[in-house]
Amino acid sequence: MNFMTTDRSYNCPVCHLTLSLADRDKDGYTVCPVCGAVMAIVISNGHILPVVHAVENKRSQLRFRLHSILTHFSIGTMPIAIIASVIAFITELAFIPVWHNFDRAGIMMVFVSLIAGLITFLTGVIDWKKRYRGRPYLQISIKVKLSLLLVVVCTGALLLHGFSTTSTTISVTYLIYFSLLNGAMAVYTVLGNIGGKLVYGK
Ligand SMILES: [Zn+2]
Repeated sequence: MNFMTTDRSYNCPVCHLTLSLADRDKDGYTVCPVCGAVMAIVISNGHILPVVHAVENKRSQLRFRLHSILTHFSIGTMPIAIIASVIAFITELAFIPVWHNFDRAGIMMVFVSLIAGLITFLTGVIDWKKRYRGRPYLQISIKVKLSLLLVVVCTGALLLHGFSTTSTTISVTYLIYFSLLNGAMAVYTVLGNIGGKLVYGK
């Protein structure tokens, strides 16, 4: 029974995407978000058996993939913020006066990442409502929670260091700020990974 992965998860028999018992609709069916297989879930001898009944072949495909396009602004600017922060720290340590410029550039990138992230989140919710018909997929609820975490982390980083006028990079506050940026990057990676699986499959 190698199709079982965990107690509550199983693989779509058609495209092998990992799905969860939590993905079931109110009527008890699950529609695979990637291949559109409509499944009834049978529990037999403790094993999860997805039984394919039909395939949802009429599915709205948004003309402009705004979510996939916009996500690159939020993911792409965060590494620049991290690199600028490292250069700011090194140059301030070396008493090179350009450190402040790099610091400000990094903060600006965090700001861009946050704003782009918020717009990306909204387009993602529209995609979910239209393309995936608002079905209760575990992946999407994880993405929503991680997105909210991301907003908290980026806002926290900006409040901590970004809006400070007497900032220095040689401080514990800056270390926390830098850690938050790296934390945000890790969350972006997980979000992108889940999103990629929903678009391209496993
Ligand atoms: Zn599938």
